[in-house]
Amino acid sequence: MSELEGLHQRIASCTDCELCRARTHAVPGEGPSNPEILFVGEGPGFYEDQQARPFVGPAGRFLEELLASIGLRRDQVFITNVVKCRPPNNRDPLPGEIDACRKYLQRQIDLLQPKVVVSLGRYSLAWFSPRDAISKVHGQAKVRDGVYFIPMYHPAAALHAGNMRKVIEEDFRKIPAVLERARAAPPEQTAPEPEPEQMRLF
Ligand code: URA
Repeated sequence: MSELEGLHQRIASCTDCELCRARTHAVPGEGPSNPEILFVGEGPGFYEDQQARPFVGPAGRFLEELLASIGLRRDQVFITNVVKCRPPNNRDPLPGEIDACRKYLQRQIDLLQPKVVVSLGRYSLAWFSPRDAISKVHGQAKVRDGVYFIPMYHPAAALHAGNMRKVIEEDFRKIPAVLERARAAPPEQTAPEPEPEQMRLF
């Protein structure tokens, strides 16, 4: 068994926070073991909890459309979430739940070594960059811990507010150029994180 498979088995039986009580299944995430792009959502919803797969409900269908719009299929990218178990009634994850799950996403990133990380939604942005506001930084790539990082609005936002759709579609269109850049010039792993103004690449 690979280390990633072992990690996903641990996630499947994790009891480190209260979310394990109400879950049907934990949702570790899925995708190739050496993805170029890692998408990180917030937490499983109803359908994800039922199927043990990330983004398989309405937000997932829109995510697949967005991926198709830049020439990607979902099986070419890795998709996971900040918390691996569904918060009851799809409430926001609590700080303690996010902290209890932190080690799993961190280990996934270490093992997958993606070239580009895309956060989907506020909670995912906060996991990577707690001081940033999504309304200010969405669609802007920066280098974080030696990896290109692009925060995006959550696809579900487009399902609730119609004008979000265009914003998310536009932000997605920036991914291929960032990926090209990451392929051509992988950021230096040991470089200190520059000040926010200097981090804007696009
Ligand atoms: N929303 C998320 O943030 N993640 C999922 O897996 C599904 C919906």
